[in-house]
Amino acid sequence: MPIVRIADLRLKARRASVTCNVGGVPVGSSHPVVVQSMTNTGTADAAATAAQIAALAAAGSELVRITVNTREAAAAVPEIRRRLADLGVAAPIVGDFHYNGHLLLTEYPGCAAALDKYRINPGNVGAGRQHDDNFRRMIEVAVAHGKPVRIGVNWGSLDRTLLTTLMDENAHRAQPNADREVVLEAMGESALRSAALAESFGQPHDAIVLSAKVSDVRDLVQVYRALAASCDYPLHLGLTEAGLGTKGIVATTAALAVLLHDGVGDTIRTSLTPVPGGDRAEEVRICQQILQSLGIRHFTPQVTSCPGCGRTTSTFFQTLASQVTAHIQQRMPVWCERHPGVEQLKVAVMGCIVNGPGESKHADIGISLPGTGEDPRAPVYVDGKLAVTLKGENIAGDFARMLDEYVEKRYAAR
Ligand code: SF4
Repeated sequence: MPIVRIADLRLKARRASVTCNVGGVPVGSSHPVVVQSMTNTGTADAAATAAQIAALAAAGSELVRITVNTREAAAAVPEIRRRLADLGVAAPIVGDFHYNGHLLLTEYPGCAAALDKYRINPGNVGAGRQHDDNFRRMIEVAVAHGKPVRIGVNWGSLDRTLLTTLMDENAHRAQPNADREVVLEAMGESALRSAALAESFGQPHDAIVLSAKVSDVRDLVQVYRALAASCDYPLHLGLTEAGLGTKGIVATTAALAVLLHDGVGDTIRTSLTPVPGGDRAEEVRICQQILQSLGIRHFTPQVTSCPGCGRTTSTFFQTLASQVTAHIQQRMPVWCERHPGVEQLKVAVMGCIVNGPGESKHADIGISLPGTGEDPRAPVYVDGKLAVTLKGENIAGDFARMLDEYVEKRYAAR
């Protein structure tokens, strides 16, 4: 069998060749993959919605989407914008429209003007002739206000007329495809046909973002690969209805990682079901961690730590890993201000001599604790070299001090 060299396996990156400007945030082309999120407050409650947008933006959401589902919600949008301005929050706001977007956008010009982008679901703009008329009205508002749109297809609300047409065509083929294949094809077709329709109504090519979300990981990868090969619009990625907790996080990560690693995707969202009273900003942190784990963007220093095993002497190792992580989180607001580049810092906290020194050498700064039966010392490596061996009662404090000193020295103060 011929030996394949790893270097030959590199995949060609595919990012959109078009850049869409969303309220000053560039989406697409070689610009950083943008993190976005969505509020779950009632939009008519301007105070609560503005507060949640501010919290999401503070967590790092670079675009925030809000539902605009009623007249009260549309009327509240300018007030939300004003409140955010008072809070000094400049994050672009995306309005999510279904069923009545053509009415709300035309009846509430203040809402249309205050939003930075409109999300239009082509499966929810009416049927038959109404579909095109309603869609046209929304696009005309976007053109008049100079706003970009996202054509956001979702398989839970796929355009039934288009699906029926494609199913009929498929049935007449000599070798029909499976229904699932036709549904996935319809997802991409709905997005592409709607984008072409929007352009025919005057929407500029570079003011369109596409998405085609499904809730199955393999289906999502298939739909987006096809979409990426068929157009140069920026693509918004997300596994829709991802679910709760670990399941939602893992499924989202699995889907987005495959696509992002292939260079597909210009903006992402994690659609987690929050636990009651949970922190909505969790979806922002997950997006950041996905991008950082793939080496696509850096947001915060990464702590590499081993899982521990029978060689780990006590819970001290776990405690130290937690303390170091907490120390970094606590320092980051100041470090971000004073030490540009600190988000690329790599720290290692390891449990014993087996992989400890090796992993510590790969980090910028790493500590290897003594395992069972080992000499009770903790060597610290800085930039790949043994710097000092810590021992005694204050290993955690000593390592935190070394970490602070390393950041001060390595990342020049502003
Ligand atoms: S580094 Fe040591 S303690 Fe950590 S998992 Fe590996 S063998 Fe176990």
